[in-house]
Amino acid sequence: LSIGVPAETIAGERRISVVPDVVKKYQGLGARVVMQTGAGVPAHYVDAGFAGVDFVEDAQVICADADLLLCVQPPSAQRIAAMKPGSVLLGMLQPWSDVERVKLLQARQITAFALELLPRISRSQSMDALSSQAAVAGYECALIAADHSPKFFPMLTYAAGTIRPAKVLVIGAGVAGLQAIATARRIGAMVEAYDVRPETREQIESLGAKFVDTGVAAAGSGGYARELTDEEKARQAERLAKAVGQCDALITTAAIPGKRAPRIITADMIARMKPGAVVVDMAAESGGNVEGTVAGEKVWINDVLVIGPTHITSRMPVHASEMYAKNLYNFISPFIKDGALALDWEDEVVAGCCLTHAGEVRHAGVAQVLG
Ligand code: NAD
Repeated sequence: LSIGVPAETIAGERRISVVPDVVKKYQGLGARVVMQTGAGVPAHYVDAGFAGVDFVEDAQVICADADLLLCVQPPSAQRIAAMKPGSVLLGMLQPWSDVERVKLLQARQITAFALELLPRISRSQSMDALSSQAAVAGYECALIAADHSPKFFPMLTYAAGTIRPAKVLVIGAGVAGLQAIATARRIGAMVEAYDVRPETREQIESLGAKFVDTGVAAAGSGGYARELTDEEKARQAERLAKAVGQCDALITTAAIPGKRAPRIITADMIARMKPGAVVVDMAAESGGNVEGTVAGEKVWINDVLVIGPTHITSRMPVHASEMYAKNLYNFISPFIKDGALALDWEDEVVAGCCLTHAGEVRHAGVAQVLG
């Protein structure tokens, strides 16, 4: 089995889909790992650290040779065209937003697994790249907020008095939001948080934060949130406005799978924030939770700094790559036997995660989007 790891090409992407320890494990299963020269360098994994790996300069050669191609971002059309029909592609393939690429994978007869489609059952937790990367992003967003705030996050007692701790409001308490809460708490801030899923109240409180109760509950299927009705949105906005107006830092992480990020914070709410307040909109890349966010930019709205960070996980590529590489390994390794890949299509996780196979779009939801 030849496992190919070409360098990532998207500007701003620094993660890589294997790390040395994980490569060793693939080799232990009888696989040969071929990497593009320098592929790990943006993530601080130098070539010399990958024992037993064959390094090749040309990514096209790696794509053409691989039985299993690993990636972080989806490969370019040129790379897909180089892949062997019947070969396997595994990574974050953006199945909902990248329709043309799905068609290319289908036409090229690639067996593509998109980790965004992973069924979120207990057994698949160790493969869950959405969760591992969301944890990195949530942590980073809390640090970005602290870094840009003109105030201390912790309470500070000094010779002339006491500085009160900063008030942080986190919206969206999924994996990323909970990590942002935990991180802001560790730095010493007073944290409030809100999510439309009522079960998050207990999780928020267990981290020492206060739940903001808007009276709007919108649990959807599979543990995710559903979109709010216009009436619910209005009620949510009215109740949230007060908490937004009182906080020193606002971190938004709300998302709906396969949809544009919900717009929760209006320009009017921003206008009523305290001077010097900081907003970190983690959803900037998928449309933004905050009116006025610009992805990849820091924008001043009156005296409020609104930050729309992009490629957040690439801010800590060493651990983000390590976590991601382990997710991929945990997904695929049960099917590597005696140096060959034998997929089990009866396996709920394999079947659920499959985007394209044998010239078909296998995921019903994505097939519907394709029409
Ligand atoms: P996500 O990234 O899809 O969304 C982030 C959060 O935004 C969610 O908590 C969601 O409820 C919230 N949100 C959506 N619309 C909102 C709005 N209008 N206002 C406020 N908040 C809003 O979510 P996620 O982090 O991927 O996790 C979602 C769920 O999946 C959680 O229940 C989590 O525990 C569960 N999960 C299960 C597994 C597993 O069992 N294997 C793994 C990971 C996550």
